[in-house]
Amino acid sequence: MRVILLGAPGSGKGSLAGLIGAAYGFPKISTGDLLRDAAREKTPLGLQAAAQLGKGGLVDDAVVLGLLRERLARPDCRAGYILDGYPRNLAQAKDLETLDDGRREIVFLIETREAVVIERLSSRRICSACQAVFNVVTKKPSREGICDVCGGRLVQRNDDRDEVIAERMKTHRQKTEPLISFYQGRGILHRVDGNGRLEEIFSAVRPVLDAEIRVAEAFGKRP
Ligand code: ADP
Repeated sequence: MRVILLGAPGSGKGSLAGLIGAAYGFPKISTGDLLRDAAREKTPLGLQAAAQLGKGGLVDDAVVLGLLRERLARPDCRAGYILDGYPRNLAQAKDLETLDDGRREIVFLIETREAVVIERLSSRRICSACQAVFNVVTKKPSREGICDVCGGRLVQRNDDRDEVIAERMKTHRQKTEPLISFYQGRGILHRVDGNGRLEEIFSAVRPVLDAEIRVAEAFGKRP
């Protein structure tokens, strides 16, 4: 099973991916995290990504594909995985079809109002050590500025500044939104209301995923 999450920056893809992963045992694969990790570790692909990250545009398709290919080859992806932030344009959607062929796919489009998204992004803080996500309004850490998970320092992501948020939204509208009709045409797109609480969003997704997994099992295909 391959679960693809589509939605604007701040729509809640990463948080939802975490819940789905915990409930179904699939790893959550965020290309944003892969790129930031590679940039920090200064790997060859990371060095290429570093120059393009944090500006609100997209990193080169080949760089992202290289990182994704490495990640999907790891054994924890065998039973299934959740993609958060990939694909982000039509070329990537086509690249994905050539990767890891034959899996059942399901796409959730998280629809969140722009005002909600901007509010969430500007109040988001992440742990500089373990990348856990907090929010200074809705998910405060117990000690200000300190990660509840590992005690690391909480920071604002470079691209969560207002100027970059506007650029990310523009990139999303221009490059990623065409994927909606691409996946709709394939009959695998499910729309989810992303404005409510995370638990509500997860409850809307669950029955669709359960049904999909039952079909996969009934047909004896690899999940
Ligand atoms: P968000 O979805 O909230 O913008 P991410 O952490 O998913 O945050 O992505 C951060 C940045 O990483 C993006 O603005 C972009 O520059 C880069 N990025 C992430 N995924 C991709 C991708 N699939 N293709 C190209 N660039 C990507």
